[in-house]
Amino acid sequence: MPNALARGSKGKTVSTLQARLRELGYDADGEFGPATEAAVIAFQELHGLLPDGKVGPLTWEALKEGVPAVTVKPPPGLEVDRSLRLTLAGGYVQEAHPKDLIVLHHTAGGSASSTVKWWQDTKEPIATAYVLERDGTIFEVFDPRHWAYHLGLKGAGGRVDRRSVGIEIASEGGLTEADGALYTFDSIRPSHRFDKKDAYDHGTTWRGYRHFARYTPAQIEAVALLVDHLCATFHIPRRTPKNHLDFDKALWDYQGIVGHQPVRSDKSDVHPGFDWERLRQKCALTLD
Ligand SMILES: [Zn+2]
Repeated sequence: MPNALARGSKGKTVSTLQARLRELGYDADGEFGPATEAAVIAFQELHGLLPDGKVGPLTWEALKEGVPAVTVKPPPGLEVDRSLRLTLAGGYVQEAHPKDLIVLHHTAGGSASSTVKWWQDTKEPIATAYVLERDGTIFEVFDPRHWAYHLGLKGAGGRVDRRSVGIEIASEGGLTEADGALYTFDSIRPSHRFDKKDAYDHGTTWRGYRHFARYTPAQIEAVALLVDHLCATFHIPRRTPKNHLDFDKALWDYQGIVGHQPVRSDKSDVHPGFDWERLRQKCALTLD
């Protein structure tokens, strides 16, 4: 094993490194200068490695099986925050897989960072590649070509998880009504009281709830930008079912964009207040 390569390194191993980076779609020409260093850092960030720009044993190892760079440039306005990353120790499965499905969830929890911390602490590869904070910040917590369990489909053996990209919207989710007030997390106490003006009223009970925490406009816009970009990157069909409220097991084989709720009869994410029409327009989705 050679010493770690870094900016200023020369020789045959640098050429080998650059050839491999180019194979994966990164831009790395000439000597180990700023361009190669930037390519190494981009590669390390995508693989959950310390992005120090130095090519030591861990980075060499990842380069061997390395998955390609994102070759589709993010559209203007799409900013992805990679400051909250899951580590490989149980966080996700580092195995690239083609994608033909996007599944939207909500966390029924606190902030994006508390959700990511929870996933990391479980030590099992249960997560989604993206978590959207209430202010619209898009956190990419692992490379979307990799995968983690996010659907909990009994008997499916992870086959749908592997081929889908999951997006979690940070939200309290279903709200409980008691004495004319709304409460979060099925808990009737003052600290869990939820402001009615931020609630969506479905008018009738659906999956155990009538009221839900409203997704913020910033989250809806962020979902639309991200879905659009993921469809372009992975060639995911731009289509979505007409009916988002009822369970349909046939959707386990669907290619397009769905919520968690039609593939699981016991889930209430995403809730009926999700603005599917906005998503349809922004991403040019057809209805099935
Ligand atoms: Zn879910």
